[in-house]
Amino acid sequence: MRCFWDKRQLLHAPAQELHNGSFVPYAEHPGRPRSILAAIGPTEAPRDHGEAPLLRVHPADYLDFLKRAFADWQAAGRPGDAAGYVWPVVRRRPLRLERIDARLGRYSMDASTPIAEGTWETAYWSAQSALSALEAVLDGERTAFALCRPPGHHAGADYAGGYCYLNTMAIAAEAAIAAGRRRVAILDIDYHHGNGTQDIFWDRGDVLFVSIHADPATDYPFFWGHEDERGEGDGEGTTVNLPLPRGTDMAAFGKALDAALGRIVGFAPDLLLCSYGADTFAGDPISFFRIETADYAEIGRRIAALGLPTAILMEGGYAVDALGANVASFLSGF
Ligand SMILES: [Zn+2]
Repeated sequence: MRCFWDKRQLLHAPAQELHNGSFVPYAEHPGRPRSILAAIGPTEAPRDHGEAPLLRVHPADYLDFLKRAFADWQAAGRPGDAAGYVWPVVRRRPLRLERIDARLGRYSMDASTPIAEGTWETAYWSAQSALSALEAVLDGERTAFALCRPPGHHAGADYAGGYCYLNTMAIAAEAAIAAGRRRVAILDIDYHHGNGTQDIFWDRGDVLFVSIHADPATDYPFFWGHEDERGEGDGEGTTVNLPLPRGTDMAAFGKALDAALGRIVGFAPDLLLCSYGADTFAGDPISFFRIETADYAEIGRRIAALGLPTAILMEGGYAVDALGANVASFLSGF
C-alpha cells in the first residue's frame, strides 16, 4: 500500500497541555509518527498541492491566524506555546480580535491545542499527505494511507481543537468532490467523535459522515457525537453517530462497525475515506475501549470487503509503544 508522510510533520512539538486540571506533557508528540514509521515500512513524500485545497474547507482568516499565532504570541512577550484562555460564547456583535488572546479564543474550542513554532508547517504537510493519499486512490490505487500528524477530525472550518488544526479529512473529501466524485463516505473510527468533520458536512447531502466513538456523555468532546445528531437540510440523515460505552471490546465494536458499513453501502458512495484512530486500543493512556492489536486487522478486513476505493487518514492513538503495531495491523487488513 502506498503510504504518504513528510518529515516536516515532526516539527510541531508543544511542551504541555491542560488535561483534567493539570498541565501534562503533550500527548500528541513526534514520538507517535516515529513509532508508526518504524512499523509500516517505506513512505513517499507528498506532492505539494498548495493552499487552494485547504481554502475549500477553511476561511483565509483562519489560515492566517494559524500561520501567525506563534509569532504574535512571542511579539506579546509570552513564554512557551500559544494557547487560549477565554472563549467568546456570547456573540452579539462582530468580535474584536486585537489581542493574540482574543484570536486564540476565537479560533479554538479548547485548551489542549497549543500553537508552537512549527505548528503551521506541520499541519500544512499533514494536509498535503492526506491530499496525496487521496490522489493515489483517484489515480487508481485501491487503498492508500496518509500518516497525518497532527490529526484533523476535531478541527472545524474556523477553529482548532483536540490536537487538530486543519481538518485533513474534510480537505480530502472536498478535493475528491472537486475532482468529480459525486458521493463521498467518511468512516471515522477514532475513539473520539470527529466533531469538526461532522460540523463541516452537517448540511451536506453528498458527504456521508459515519462515526463510531466513545459516548460523549463520558468522553471528549462532550458536546457532539450523540446518536440524535443526524444532520440538517440537505444533510438530514447523512450524519450517523454510533456512540459506545467505555469498556467496549471487539465483539461490541464489530457490531457497530457492521452497522456503520451497512449505512455506507446504503449511501452508495464512489469513494470511502477512513479516519483511523488507534486510541481505541486497550492500552491507550487517555481512552477506554478494549480493542487489541490483532483486532485492527479484522476491522481493516471488514472495511476492505466493501470493495470501495479507500484513502485512510491517521487520526489519534497515544499508546506510543504499541502504536506502530496497531497501525500496521490495521493496514494489513486491506
Ligand atoms: Zn482520538
